[in-house]
Amino acid sequence: MRLRSFGEQNIPVPVIGQGTWQMPESGKGRREAVDAIKAGIDLGMTHIDTAEMYGRAEEIVGEAIKGVDRSRLFIVSKVLPSNAGYTKTISCCERSLSRLGLDYLDCYLLHWRGGLPLSETLAAMEKLQADGKIRSFGVSNFDVEDLEEAMSCLSSGKLACNQVLYNLENRGIERRLIPMCQKNSIALVGYTPYGTVPGASSQAYKRLAAIARRHDATMRQVILAFLTRLDGTFTIPKAARLAHVVENANAGKLDLSEDDIQEIDELYPVPRRDVPLGMI
Ligand code: NAP
Repeated sequence: MRLRSFGEQNIPVPVIGQGTWQMPESGKGRREAVDAIKAGIDLGMTHIDTAEMYGRAEEIVGEAIKGVDRSRLFIVSKVLPSNAGYTKTISCCERSLSRLGLDYLDCYLLHWRGGLPLSETLAAMEKLQADGKIRSFGVSNFDVEDLEEAMSCLSSGKLACNQVLYNLENRGIERRLIPMCQKNSIALVGYTPYGTVPGASSQAYKRLAAIARRHDATMRQVILAFLTRLDGTFTIPKAARLAHVVENANAGKLDLSEDDIQEIDELYPVPRRDVPLGMI
């Protein structure tokens, strides 16, 4: 698994992590999901993304990481915008920690901008960091202008991360947002990497499958390798099934050639003009 420096603190983090939205929450599905996350950790996907919004996901992650050496893990959670502001951000972080069974988070994000004053939420993040409850903090679903505003609100801290939609059909962020994050050492974590997987009869499928064959890999592994090819980028596919986790983790070994990248560029071009940031 390739590691990459996450934010200005230079924390080494695997480029492919594990998402946890819509994990099965009970019965056999839940047990399989816990085992899948554990297997992902063993395979190097120690970056785990969760959120207070994701139902019981924080508890599921808590169960999966029980007994794992804490220093190996990079655990990220998020506060809902409706729970943001100074006081609530701090209490929500404490509740997330308790559901996860942790003393600290590696990164804490504002899930999307929302209507509460950004300066208060970010002041709470700085306080949580100063108190050792989070190692770093950031935002999610912030386009260039919102990110600039967030950076201007900070007094002592530094944004470590912006988590945004990034998949083959949503490459608008390569125009301005990714360069801005790279310039400011802000990790760009792409979510919903499998938002676009072409249908088996399509031309795109045939060409992606041919690239995959050249590397003895799968098409999904090609997609994950493509989405993490740029400096400062990470991806967090969610998989509740063991076979999916294994396939995703093995994408961390795949290096695409310039020709492969050019071919994918032709299939899924970056838009020619700026487009609004997509969001799910
Ligand atoms: P995704 O990871 O692109 O896709 C998840 C789906 O793909 C699941 O149905 C999963 O199946 C399947 N899958 C995973 N690996 C596979 C494989 N190797 N082969 C075949 N199918 C596979 O979508 P996502 O969950 O929307 O995004 C990923 C994570 O990003 C989320 O879980 C969440 O942590 C984060 N996220 C953040 C935001 C935000 O606003 N910040 C928004 C959306 C998502 P199984 O589960 O059955 O294995």
